[in-house]
Amino acid sequence: MKSKMFEKETFKKEVVENVKYLYRKTMDEASEQEIFQAVSYVVKDVIIDQWLATQQEFDKADPKIVYYMSMEFLMGRALGNNLINLTVYNEVKEALEEMGINLNAIEDQEPDPALGNGGLGRLAACFMESLATLGYPAYGCGIRYHYGMFRQKIENGYQVEEPDNWLQNGYPFELKRPEYNFEVKFGGYVRAEAQPDGRTRFVQEGYQSVKAIPYDMPIVGYNNNVVNTLMIWDAEPMECFELDSFDKGDYHRAIEQQNLAKNLVEVLYPNDNHIAGKELRLKQQYFFVSASLQRAIARFKKNHPDIHMLPEKAVFQMNDTHPTVAVAELMRILLDEEGLEWDDAWNITTKCCAYTNHTIMAEALEKWPIEIFSRLLPRIYQIVEEINRRFVLEIQQKYPGDNHKVEKMAIIYDGQVKMAHLAICAGYSVNGVAALHTEILKKQELKDFYEMFPEKFNNKTNGITQRRFLMHGDPLLADWVTKYVGKDWITDLSRIKRLEFYADDEKVQQEFLNIKYQNKLRLASYIEEHNGIEVNPRSIFDVQVKRLHEYKRQLLNILHVMYLYNELKEHPDMEFIPRTFIFGAKAAAGYRNAKLTIKLINSVADVINNDKSINGKIKVVFIEDYKVSNAEIIFAAADVSEQISTASKEASGTGNMKFMLNGALTIGTMDGANVEMAEEVGKENMFIFGMSSDEVIAHEQKRDYDPMQIFNNDQDVRKVLMQLINGFYSPNDPELFRDLYNSLLNTQCTQYADTYFILADFRSYVEAQKKINAAYADEKEWARKAILNIAASGKFSSDRTIQEYVDDIWHLNKITVTVDDKAE
Ligand SMILES: *Cc1c(COP(=O)(O)O)cnc(C)c1O
Repeated sequence: MKSKMFEKETFKKEVVENVKYLYRKTMDEASEQEIFQAVSYVVKDVIIDQWLATQQEFDKADPKIVYYMSMEFLMGRALGNNLINLTVYNEVKEALEEMGINLNAIEDQEPDPALGNGGLGRLAACFMESLATLGYPAYGCGIRYHYGMFRQKIENGYQVEEPDNWLQNGYPFELKRPEYNFEVKFGGYVRAEAQPDGRTRFVQEGYQSVKAIPYDMPIVGYNNNVVNTLMIWDAEPMECFELDSFDKGDYHRAIEQQNLAKNLVEVLYPNDNHIAGKELRLKQQYFFVSASLQRAIARFKKNHPDIHMLPEKAVFQMNDTHPTVAVAELMRILLDEEGLEWDDAWNITTKCCAYTNHTIMAEALEKWPIEIFSRLLPRIYQIVEEINRRFVLEIQQKYPGDNHKVEKMAIIYDGQVKMAHLAICAGYSVNGVAALHTEILKKQELKDFYEMFPEKFNNKTNGITQRRFLMHGDPLLADWVTKYVGKDWITDLSRIKRLEFYADDEKVQQEFLNIKYQNKLRLASYIEEHNGIEVNPRSIFDVQVKRLHEYKRQLLNILHVMYLYNELKEHPDMEFIPRTFIFGAKAAAGYRNAKLTIKLINSVADVINNDKSINGKIKVVFIEDYKVSNAEIIFAAADVSEQISTASKEASGTGNMKFMLNGALTIGTMDGANVEMAEEVGKENMFIFGMSSDEVIAHEQKRDYDPMQIFNNDQDVRKVLMQLINGFYSPNDPELFRDLYNSLLNTQCTQYADTYFILADFRSYVEAQKKINAAYADEKEWARKAILNIAASGKFSSDRTIQEYVDDIWHLNKITVTVDDKAE
């Protein structure tokens, strides 16, 4: 492509050609969607050559490959990032301009492939991009949900979910690979069959099955010709509605298989950090894991006769416990299909599987009732039972007579299969996602396992890709960074450190402020267009965007807004810099307090935004449908980044890193990766507040926290809380926010009041917010701090994270790919 596509004239000609043969239209007649498709096919054409070359290099070099197994890949749009990584973004932009077409408008035509919920899915996407950019051989393994994360509408202040039909116009950056289909079996029973050689063979019978069909998506590395593959699996019935089955009177089975295939990949479960525990979810897990392992092993066997070599050629990284059935499925393949003995199969499996832990919250830990698990996956269940039997023996050997250890650590206990225990027992690596999180795992949540397998535990602090979140999302700032530190930061973010030499330079500070202002104008017009709210681009843009969850404490943020509003009304002349509080968050469809918090934010916005008496000093904006594509615009425009989770609850966070890279200052607790951000930039360049994770954990253990004391002794808190139940923000329904009030104070309602220590941290949060107000008054000092934050963000590149995974867990070698320019 390099020389060919970026022959501007050739590119233009190909776009016109594509519009003609795809739609039988001229450019004038074509819609923006049609032009998006036409442009994408030109780009895909270039990618295909590199993709082929990469595959040929795989075949030739026979490298070890990482299979990153994840229920979620929150990819975001591909066109813009593919152009950036092919290093032709500006050329294409110009070529299109010459045709009277705006590239951004064309990019906006792409549906945002949202095959994930939030941080965990976005991490998988950043990892895929970094793997390709660093030149490591990798496949992503996931599900081609027909409907991804729902589209969020706000109606009358309430969240309404709409289906996300991302495939309706056809997605240009995917390739169906029907030749790599595999059967996946569910249900039935297992028959033990004695073999002539005295061994027993286990055969699953009476099952239903589906055909798994992979769609490959190209993952383009930055400027290196490497194109890795994300394989996402679709399901089709084994045989099309067969007259055959019909004739045999198997009508019902034929219909059932059809329905199984249809339901299986229909929709992503919209829960973040919470398990639904639904049977269909377990089916989805086994479906994509089984298909991915079958494809991986088929690829391996093509040129390796000895299955014992598998650990030298493949590693399966399990993104959370969701793909943990992989352990048992690999055992099944090795035992039942390859005919290995147990010890042999176990030896291979435990050298191939590694596990990433993403949370310690009880409601997110996956446990499956034995009844569901064994009925759905009878052979897999047998294997898990045997893994458990041997593991329990091992525990008993290490702790003779300590039955409590067995109760706490067994994989199967109390009628349930505990997926984290299976993952830790079988995985050779167990990693947390930020230093604090990993320490909590070792000292608290997984203490017993750490005692038993200390060598397995390690930390891999999360990261983000600077190609999407700076180069693409914030081109003005990206060019400005390049002007001062050169362009090496694009593939080595540690180079951005050199910006710190300019932090005191007033000219550089002013340039930074100008760019931030441009980005705020861009977001202001997005808000004007989507919300019909006019915001002041000179106000502080204070942003909290992330999934709505009680532990992330959007409620703390909005309670502070309510408090500030009370203050402004009482002291109209107080020192106050106008502030725009911007929220964006999807709530799981069944999460009542989360949805009510969205309503509260919108109700507070209605009252405050329409109160002329405060002269627009506070505005509150809820941005609908927070997703990767609008996220890029939001981060670029933020002055303040809200990272205010209850300490110990946010495993890492990655939103925090995106804000930092874009020059926002963080107000945050010492939680997750915030701790490491403070280490990198210095606490004096952040606004840290609240209880430490040790303090939170101590209160949880002693159960000695009483929010009512705070309510009784702090009249500002009391006033704000009373406004939740006296109709101040909901005159037509004073009881509307009662459940939120109760979640903070009422022990009748939940087991504990204020589970997330909102009132405990309230005062400290108010003080930190006051410091922000004071600090922003000195623009230059603010700019200096922002520049220092950008300069200190080097650690948080997913390139660094991936290199650590490679060095400590995966042990991969880089490949190099060259592509001959096609002669025209
Ligand atoms: C980065 C990102 C997240 C994760 O944000 P956190 O603040 O770490 O929870 C969620 N959703 C989208 C769209 C993102 O880009």
